Amino acid sequence: MKVRVAINGFGTIGKRVADAVARQPDMELVGVTKTRPSFEARRAREKGYPLYVAGAGDPSEFESAGLPVAGTGADLFARVDVVIDASPDKVGRTNRALYEAAGVRAIFQGGEKAEIADASFNALGNYAACRGKRFLRVVSCNTTGLARAAAVLGPAWGIDHWEATLVRRGADPAESKKGPINGILPTFQLPSHHGPDVRTIFPDLSIATTALVVPTTLMHVHVNHVRLRREPTDLPSVLEAFRASPRFHLFAPWEHADGTPQVMEYARDRGIGFNDMMENVLWESGVRLDGRNLDFFQAIHQESIVVPENVDAVRAMFDLAPDGPTSIAITDRALGLTPAR
Ligand code: NAD
Repeated sequence: MKVRVAINGFGTIGKRVADAVARQPDMELVGVTKTRPSFEARRAREKGYPLYVAGAGDPSEFESAGLPVAGTGADLFARVDVVIDASPDKVGRTNRALYEAAGVRAIFQGGEKAEIADASFNALGNYAACRGKRFLRVVSCNTTGLARAAAVLGPAWGIDHWEATLVRRGADPAESKKGPINGILPTFQLPSHHGPDVRTIFPDLSIATTALVVPTTLMHVHVNHVRLRREPTDLPSVLEAFRASPRFHLFAPWEHADGTPQVMEYARDRGIGFNDMMENVLWESGVRLDGRNLDFFQAIHQESIVVPENVDAVRAMFDLAPDGPTSIAITDRALGLTPAR
């Protein structure tokens, strides 16, 4: 029997997760919510996703826009096994009471505090620890990227200490009211909250992060300095470890993907999801090894990296797969992501 899934909040993350869930062999997308009619609500209808009215939304507004709705959020929650909450930052904590009232499980996003859920989730990092939980939180885009890399490096060589600088995009492409449009804004929280957030997945990891925001919408870029416990044989063995892991995509020098514009152009050429790059992106020329010291850049497509993680979180919650790697393989095959080599 398929797990019945609802998406509450059909924005940047929600619409992508809805498509991803609809493609899974063991899940059924029962419906999505919108607070008001919009082009995204219209797309939901065009895709055949039953539309429900979220929050304080007014069904008559949808009717007048020619978008018939199947009911309210409460109606939808009563028809599913799990709600994936993709509402704006901090709205999830209000929504949790609705899920409790409906007696339904829920998965929250990284804009919520870790305490909202029984556990924070990353498929490569802690799938097994999240099996059977009632409430999970998929960590943010930056935390997901760091946790995935830690899941590759930790088991292979051990991690003494990790310093990362996160160069963050100012806004998502559709956000016309956010900035900066000129300037580089340091985040005056030192270290930034991302390191502690990674520790919700790997409690013992020694990691310190700093962040700054720049005028771009495409991707974040992490500048990583990792002191490993054991010295890798050579640089190719490190590249191979990343290449052999799912959810990583490496660009060779001859591909001339010089930065995030070319990475996202590749994503448009590839056409997965909403022309997304759901994997951590590394450049082979952007990885350096000096003894136990490893430096590498990685780019994170903030709009989509958490999409496969939400799918795996559903599978962990309902114990639909024997282990994390199996779930990841099912998810990635359904989405057409770069297979591990
Ligand atoms: P968004 O603003 O693009 O989408 C949120 C959607 O929720 C909108 O359609 C909005 O109308 C709807 N909504 C508003 N109030 C609601 C309510 N009470 N109930 C249900 N839906 C409601 O936001 P987003 O970027 O998709 O972010 C969603 C979550 O994902 C946040 O926790 C965010 O931190 C997290 N996240 C975002 C990104 C990113 O870069 N966009 C990356 C990773 C995680």
